Amino acid sequence: MAIAVSSENFLNHDLRRYERQIILSDWGIETQKKLKRAKVFVAGAGGLGCPAALNLALAGVREIRICDFDTVELSNLNRQFLHQEQSIGTNKARSAQETLSSINSEICVEPIPHKITEHNVDGFVGDAQVILDCLDNFSGRYTLNQCAIRKGVPMVHGAIWGFEGRITFLYPPATPCLACIFPKAPRREQSPSVGAVSCATGSLQALETIKFLTGIGSPLSGRMLILDFSTMQFQELEVPRDPQCPVCGELSSKLKAQS
Ligand SMILES: [Zn+2]
Repeated sequence: MAIAVSSENFLNHDLRRYERQIILSDWGIETQKKLKRAKVFVAGAGGLGCPAALNLALAGVREIRICDFDTVELSNLNRQFLHQEQSIGTNKARSAQETLSSINSEICVEPIPHKITEHNVDGFVGDAQVILDCLDNFSGRYTLNQCAIRKGVPMVHGAIWGFEGRITFLYPPATPCLACIFPKAPRREQSPSVGAVSCATGSLQALETIKFLTGIGSPLSGRMLILDFSTMQFQELEVPRDPQCPVCGELSSKLKAQS
């Protein structure tokens, strides 16, 4: 396939590696270069984080920071495919980094083997352009949500429960924040998980991230996609912003004051 290289910075090697996405009519070399400069933060290297990070690495996202304090257990291996049997007992972020780097050695994967807290989250996220919420607990999700608002970057929220996946793109004030949708954390229980469900949902989180980074398509703004994989019926819920939201409400007053 003959594709003209528009810049000497873009190597023929890149052209070959990413050819099948570059030939998309909306994509091209300039779009691929955006991914070559992109930085993302993936919170969680579990059922959602594995497929999300994998698809970002495959697409050529330049820098992926992946954060997980937990260690790989046998019961993770029905879905968390970046970890292997020999990874059991090792840190998940490091194990994910090893696999991702073996799949794409041209990107930078930084493992962060720590638990996210309100004190360390800003430093861990750094200058990432997007936060992927691939966690399994709401205290961590709320911490990420606040960080995303402070930094003015979007957060792609994903969750699964059994055969159901949920995903939405959060970027207030244009969309709600996580606390607008879930003012209170749902009761925490161990989620039943099927690998194909978390893989599909995490892959969609990667896709929302790629769309934002490249400017292609339209994000799930103000919409939550509910995926019932047991019947393959997908529905979309409107998720409005709460103007009184204690987390992102202040953001609107600040923006109003500036205008
Ligand atoms: Zn809010």
